[in-house]
Amino acid sequence: MNSPKKHYLQLAVPTPLRRYFDYLPPAGFPVENLQAGMRIRIPFQQRELIGIFMGLTEKSDVPTHKLKQAIECLDQKPVISSDILDLCRWAADYYHSPIGEVIATVLPAWLRQGKSTDISSKKSITRQDTPTTPLVLNAEQHAALLAIESSHHHFKVHVLDGVTGSGKTEVYLQAIAKVLERDEQVMVLVPEIGLTPQTVQRFRERFSVPIVCLHSGITEKQRYQAWLAAKTGTARIVIGTRSAVFTPFVKLGLIVIDEEHDLSFKQQDGFRYHARDVAIMRAHFNHIPIVLGSATPSLETLHNIHQGRFDHLELRERAGGAELPQFQILDVRNLSLEDGLSVPLINEMRQHLESGNQVMLFLNRRGFAPVMMCDACGWMAQCKRCDMRMTYHYGAASLHCHHCDSQKNLVKRCENCSAHDLQAIGQGTERIEKALSTYFSHYSIARIDRDSTRRKGSMDDILTRIQNGEHQILIGTQMLAKGHHFPDVTLVAIVNADSGFFSADFRALERMGQLLLQVAGRAGRKEKPGKVMIQTRHSDHPLLLQLLHENYRTFSHTILAERKQASLPPYVFFALFRAEAHQLEYATDFLQQLKNQMHEKKVQITGPLVAPMPRRAGKHRVQLLLQCKERPVLQRLLKNVLHHLEVIPVKHRVRWSLDVDPLEIF
Ligand SMILES: [Zn+2]
Ligand SMILES: [Zn+2]
Repeated sequence: MNSPKKHYLQLAVPTPLRRYFDYLPPAGFPVENLQAGMRIRIPFQQRELIGIFMGLTEKSDVPTHKLKQAIECLDQKPVISSDILDLCRWAADYYHSPIGEVIATVLPAWLRQGKSTDISSKKSITRQDTPTTPLVLNAEQHAALLAIESSHHHFKVHVLDGVTGSGKTEVYLQAIAKVLERDEQVMVLVPEIGLTPQTVQRFRERFSVPIVCLHSGITEKQRYQAWLAAKTGTARIVIGTRSAVFTPFVKLGLIVIDEEHDLSFKQQDGFRYHARDVAIMRAHFNHIPIVLGSATPSLETLHNIHQGRFDHLELRERAGGAELPQFQILDVRNLSLEDGLSVPLINEMRQHLESGNQVMLFLNRRGFAPVMMCDACGWMAQCKRCDMRMTYHYGAASLHCHHCDSQKNLVKRCENCSAHDLQAIGQGTERIEKALSTYFSHYSIARIDRDSTRRKGSMDDILTRIQNGEHQILIGTQMLAKGHHFPDVTLVAIVNADSGFFSADFRALERMGQLLLQVAGRAGRKEKPGKVMIQTRHSDHPLLLQLLHENYRTFSHTILAERKQASLPPYVFFALFRAEAHQLEYATDFLQQLKNQMHEKKVQITGPLVAPMPRRAGKHRVQLLLQCKERPVLQRLLKNVLHHLEVIPVKHRVRWSLDVDPLEIF
């Protein structure tokens, strides 16, 4: 090198490669004006892309004559602030995701496409009305509030652990009020299904400050405006789902995560981050407290409490003196079922309906029946692309594959023996709805599942009609279980509680417990005592009895002890490689070659094994599971392996992914 020192731009570019890309500065652009987080337009292969400037380097692995020149810098100030860039770097490193993909998650589409950041975002978030006054807190709520308040400007994880109806939201609201008094901003993360107009309304009614929402249901324009409102400090409270964890703020003072155990906080494809864990890291970087609220905390969170890492704030009473619902188990082994419903359940429903109350039935399976079977030969309708059974949808008169979304018209004859004796086996929400309409023809039924709420706004319409008492019977999937307040529901029935008992997934029992209590929490709020009926074939299962007769805490302790015994998370750390290909051996070979690169005795490797769903959408699926008691050891191994990945020749025929801390391994 004989020329004076050169500077190259290191850019994060939205590609699947796990590295930065080096460019020469735009012509005539002084490099000293560049700041990390600015957008740079670049030539990339045959097109133009927008990358994010991450820093300058004096050395590039690419020979100078091959380096391309960037086209232009789009910003005078960084669109991504340094704390968010740090968070992105951490997340890309921890989840072993391409930095360009991580940054694509962070920026609204309009900004990724190059739109400018100078707009006035004020007009979209004006207010009209007088705030509601805070409620009087009970002793436990008050203690929780003080604990959260005492850690302001410090990193601390508070777990607000309280049964449904114990007034967690009121604690959030009063903690938020203190933060707003200090002129700071607040981020509230809620599950996908939890972000209803009612949730937002409660915040809007309490605070006379601008509030914006970020979730999948808004337009790109709204997202862009909300994002800028948070970044400029105009919005004081941001309520959002998973990806809102990356929202920029001027001065963030508190993070609240409601229903922290909820699965929707984990992104299940692409950049597979867990928003709760990213939020904790963000609170750590920003030196602020974070509140994780739940009636049924995840076992990971409980484990962290036991380890002394998280602060445990318990709310054991239902606020306002409301009583916990009474549970009744219906052992369906000894009862005859008509379309999945037992006589005692029908009778109980009748009583509650005749008293003028609402009744809610819960079944976590949409469609009419999960199986169409030939009575003559036992043939079952299967998806040709997935080798999985297709679900019969009565309304659409069709068969749907819930795994790849393929559909076909309802078959009238057996495809094996041509017999006409096709039977719909098992129940989905549609079938329950149909059965109930014959039992209770004088009452109006609302069904809430992905099929009935597909149209935009239809979920809100149904919820409003339920609130107004226009529907007396509610039947739904877990969409119905989360966060909705129906004060007139006095009976909740779980049509089939058994899926948790025979699943191959070790997390199934934890989920069953959480869902059961969440559903039960819909019953008997305010003055009306509630009842919960549970239909099951496992009425003597010790964990079910523990959950219902003791509480979630003893139930979760038992499961934690079992996990420890079996060396399962949260006592060990998991990472899962998934591979899929048109031919099984491509995927298997790929993972085998990957495995051959792994030489770490402390990491236990299982596989390559055919995935529990062996084929999806025509692709064969194989997986490789890594387990280790020491997180840094596992992380180091992953880093090395991904480095070697470049040299594995079959990789072009294989689609693969890595899931760090997977929540679903089956
Ligand atoms: Zn047949
Ligand atoms: Zn399919």
